[in-house]
Amino acid sequence: MKIIDRILKKQTLSFEVFPPKSDKPLEPLMSTLERLYALSPDFISCTYGAMGSNKGRNLEVVTAIQESGECDALSHYTCVGNCRLDVEDALADYSNAGVENLLALRGDFPAGVVGTDGDFSHADGLISFIRSKTDRFCIAAACYPEKHLLADSLDADIDALLLKQEAGASYFISQLCYSVENYLRFVDKARKRGVTLPIIAGVLPLLKKDGLVRMTLSNGCSIPAEVAALVGRYGESEESFRAAGHEFTVSLVRRFLAEGAAGIHLYTLNRYEDVADVVLDAGIR
Ligand code: FAD
Repeated sequence: MKIIDRILKKQTLSFEVFPPKSDKPLEPLMSTLERLYALSPDFISCTYGAMGSNKGRNLEVVTAIQESGECDALSHYTCVGNCRLDVEDALADYSNAGVENLLALRGDFPAGVVGTDGDFSHADGLISFIRSKTDRFCIAAACYPEKHLLADSLDADIDALLLKQEAGASYFISQLCYSVENYLRFVDKARKRGVTLPIIAGVLPLLKKDGLVRMTLSNGCSIPAEVAALVGRYGESEESFRAAGHEFTVSLVRRFLAEGAAGIHLYTLNRYEDVADVVLDAGIR
């Protein structure tokens, strides 16, 4: 099923996983997926690595999700490392695997690389190309409530969203954002500028102080005062920080849903327990 058809009916719940490296077994992820299915997600997405380094594993994982019949698979796919012919091959592979949903991205550049090393420099070009080839796929795109770290301003980044919308994206999934205020300011600005597509809120459960610092810094996201206070108060105890971070995440999810987010996309980092606790305590399932 096309994910947009689910989004148009209700607020969705989805999870993101990443494939194991090619020399590592697939089984641990498969058993995590089995447990995630029990939470009745609307879809599960699988990332696509730098320069297509894990594209075989990505295809294996999305095929397994799709074949499980438990929920739809959403495959990430990047401009990085892919020319037109690669994209056409990938579309055929995903189609043969029964996948109908793609998240079209520019992709992260591996260390030392400055361009996409492919035929498209931005996600909107990739989306237009896929659209010109087939109607089979419902295409999602990424958005950044606190702007993409390379964008000069939030307005400039919203211009990019408009390009992705015009190119044929059906909905957006957001980068992690721990500030509901910044998220709402972004949505308001985007709507005023003509972004009409549904926006799903991406949530990375707040579990570890080091993880918080690493992920916010590398993605150019803010640490709001509310979260900084948790670090100050509980940062010296892993256990207390995890408990406080869990409470914060549950309230973040509730606030996004109450404010009308099209759905919640949980970045699982291939974990089950912490994610299940958030889903259950937030009352989504
Ligand atoms: P774009 O939309 O191309 O935007 C990149 C930058 O260029 C922005 O600053 C934007 O404002 C600007 N821009 C956009 N279009 C144009 C244009 N036409 N002309 C000029 N400037 C433009 N990375 C991976 O490698 N693999 C993954 O699986 C993956 N999954 C992700 C999932 C989500 C939900 C999110 C939010 C990000 C994910 N990323 C992934 C990271 C993403 O690839 C990076 O953030 C990347 O730097 C930008 O991707 P994009 O698709 O948003 O790029």
